[in-house]
Amino acid sequence: MASWKQILRNSITSYEQLRAAFPGLIEPAVAEVIKRYPLRINSYYLELIKHHGQPLFRQAVPSPAELACGPCEIDPLAEDRLSPVPGIVHKYPDRVLFLVANQCALYCRFCTRKRHVGRPSMPDGRTHLDRGLDYLRRHPEIKEVLVSGGDPLLLEDHLLEDLLRALRSIDTLEIIRIGSRVPCTLPMRITTRLCRILKRYHPLFINTHFNHPAELTEEAKQACTRLADAGIPLGSQTVLLRGVNDSPETIRTLMQGLLRFRVKPYYLFQTDITAGTDHFRTTTAEGLAIMEQLLGHISGMAVPAYALDAPGGRGKIRLSPNYVLATGSSLSFRSYQGDLCSYPEPDTLPPAFSQ
Ligand SMILES: *Cc1c(COP(=O)(O)O)cnc(C)c1O
Ligand code: SF4
Repeated sequence: MASWKQILRNSITSYEQLRAAFPGLIEPAVAEVIKRYPLRINSYYLELIKHHGQPLFRQAVPSPAELACGPCEIDPLAEDRLSPVPGIVHKYPDRVLFLVANQCALYCRFCTRKRHVGRPSMPDGRTHLDRGLDYLRRHPEIKEVLVSGGDPLLLEDHLLEDLLRALRSIDTLEIIRIGSRVPCTLPMRITTRLCRILKRYHPLFINTHFNHPAELTEEAKQACTRLADAGIPLGSQTVLLRGVNDSPETIRTLMQGLLRFRVKPYYLFQTDITAGTDHFRTTTAEGLAIMEQLLGHISGMAVPAYALDAPGGRGKIRLSPNYVLATGSSLSFRSYQGDLCSYPEPDTLPPAFSQ
């Protein structure tokens, strides 16, 4: 089997290569898109697209629609403003995002950080890592670091190990969480050697990112199994995308498939209002309708939280279908099947019993 580095080297990165791979399907305007946002489709994912068509094609192949904008913003989550040093985004009191790599195995067309990924504007390299580590050392209130990018698992093993060792040497840091799409887009990267490195730095969690059941291949299953066998709890952050996975059946099949891969669905994200990604957005009503088809109908372990990252960097909120109809001496609500139900609230305790 080809190594992950060979597969990555065999990526399509130019307009000419793209036209050759998909004859008759690539419009001339796509050349402009690639000048603005980088293109990379590695040979593993290219084969998947050829077998499965539209839902994978849309995720990976640039569209002229990326040149349109709508209400979109360059940096919708205000990550640049919330960055005290390059590569660190400090939005919540006790956890930070640490962007450590600017490359990905595939440049997803809907990416929230499409202004940075694959570009020099996203900091990379040792000096930048040292400044971020220094920030974490100076802020003992930070209990968790989310290592992201780009894709941190595209770093060379020795660099990744240096980083993890440095993070673990910070006593106040309890949890390491890595965000990586590699189990989905380049599963061969999950080598036994990589897993041996990762398992030395527990408690370490990985949140990966699958968007369609066609991505649940044998290779991806092996990658997830290796990570899970290394004791790494796995989650998935799926993005709800028009024309890719915006139906209850697709999302249900994906979530159940992830659970069989030992990946716990974590978030289902509403698409951010990022410039160049408007054509991927669904309405929140569509997302809520999909959630209603999951909640109660399939294993609760397969149900992600439907979340929206508030514009302006105000954090994530979870959106839930509303089951509560009225509150008071009893709670009226509807069941997941739609029946009216009520639950009598307890009488308020007399003052003598309260502490
Ligand atoms: C999403 C995010 C987190 C993590 O949020 P959780 O709800 O804990 O998954 C942390 N920092 C930033 C900047 C984020 O965008
Ligand atoms: S893997 Fe993640 S960071 Fe990289 S392009 Fe895709 S969505 Fe963006």
